[in-house]
Amino acid sequence: MRTTSVEDIVGYESEKKSLKEICFLLQKYGELKDMGIRLPHGVLLGGEPGVGKTVMAKALIAESGVPCVRVSAGEAEQDELSEYLEARFAEATKATPSIVFMDELDKLVGDVENFRGTYNMANTRKVLQAINDHKDDGIVVVATVNDMHMLCEAFKRSGRFDRILDIPLPTFEDRLSIFEHYCKGKPISKRVDGEYVAKMTAGMSGADIECLVNEAGIHAVLENSKTVRQKDFDFAVGQKVFNGTSRENTLSDDEYFVIATHEAGHLVAGLINNPDGVTGVSILPQGESAGHCGIAMADNELATLEKVRNLIVGMLAGKASEQLFFPDAVYLTSSSDVGRAAHYAKRLLTEDGAFGLEYLAESGNMFDALDVSEEKKARIERKSDEILSDCFERATALLTEHRDLVTTFARQLVRRYSLNRPEILRIYSAYRRKNKKQPTAEPVVDCA
Ligand code: ADP
Ligand code: ZN
Repeated sequence: MRTTSVEDIVGYESEKKSLKEICFLLQKYGELKDMGIRLPHGVLLGGEPGVGKTVMAKALIAESGVPCVRVSAGEAEQDELSEYLEARFAEATKATPSIVFMDELDKLVGDVENFRGTYNMANTRKVLQAINDHKDDGIVVVATVNDMHMLCEAFKRSGRFDRILDIPLPTFEDRLSIFEHYCKGKPISKRVDGEYVAKMTAGMSGADIECLVNEAGIHAVLENSKTVRQKDFDFAVGQKVFNGTSRENTLSDDEYFVIATHEAGHLVAGLINNPDGVTGVSILPQGESAGHCGIAMADNELATLEKVRNLIVGMLAGKASEQLFFPDAVYLTSSSDVGRAAHYAKRLLTEDGAFGLEYLAESGNMFDALDVSEEKKARIERKSDEILSDCFERATALLTEHRDLVTTFARQLVRRYSLNRPEILRIYSAYRRKNKKQPTAEPVVDCA
């Protein structure tokens, strides 16, 4: 597909709005200049491979209608990079307003030897220098990058990339639209359930969905079918998501609701106590466990007792949620949660000394260590049980207070199977608006 307009991008309404704004500014360059207003210097599109960054950049270039000069990592040797960049920018300066397009900026400034995760300082300087030298020349630098975190922070300062679009994986609605888009013009059976496919493609990029529609088509042809049927999509999804497990092996809606309630418990505890750490939630099988809720403590955060205790509360919140909503049933879904929570509790006691020196013990395989007396082991076990019960109570109290939010997330999860961070935050904001609660990043539970 040759994209010629921003409208060819399916879904991503807010990102399209930003792109259209930049097109508009480029088209009004003369007027802006007369008013003494400058163009944004750069637009950085970041996000996982396949989310459509290149499509978006190309749509922006085509729709703005201004000349574009492309800079590619493969076109210059390292020692000629400065000259190469200078020549490309000089060309762009001749026909302003114009765009310098750096597709895969991470390749241009990345450290080839270390491959991922680091940037090459010398190349970074050269690129920054080129951007700086042409700051007020009517050039907008448009770049794409797979891993925004590997870029030197200097790129994100104002005067460099002053428009940063972090393109997330598509939401449920976006996945449905992308699916429908790529089905157009193909003989799709009327019985194909698009919403079901959108559910099952949680976590996939637009490129994955495009590929999936094609794989389903191939499967249909191989089975001599004239139309692409639901079972062809099931096959293609199964291949990608469940490594061959078919739809028949998945659970009933009631069983999914139990898992959804469990995961919603983790999620709500995470949102209340550690909102920045929430990455996503899913009731699709992930490795050994039935579902998954991503809550992380940021790497660069200094651990405090309160933060670690909140993590334990989050780990136990799955089980707490099940007990709150299904008090008469005991589901065996929490063994790894409880094991992890116990591990953290013991670490607080024996390694961090967070509850007093009397619990400190040699780290590692403490219970096998010879110099820990039976008496001390018992003391540690008792205190660890106490911490776990306390955290379980905190989780129960928190979920009782936010019962409606847990139910809302559980229902959404049964409907959509997975929610990414933007979807979670949207539902959470609506809940807060409805309950007229002030946004709070402070833990609701008093952990002092
Ligand atoms: P990225 O640059 O983020 O790795 P691309 O822009 O190369 O991803 O996207 C790969 C392909 O996936 C595109 O050529 C397009 O066909 C498809 N695609 C991805 N996202 C979308 C979308 N939102 N709308 C339409 N097509 C998309
Ligand atoms: Zn759990």
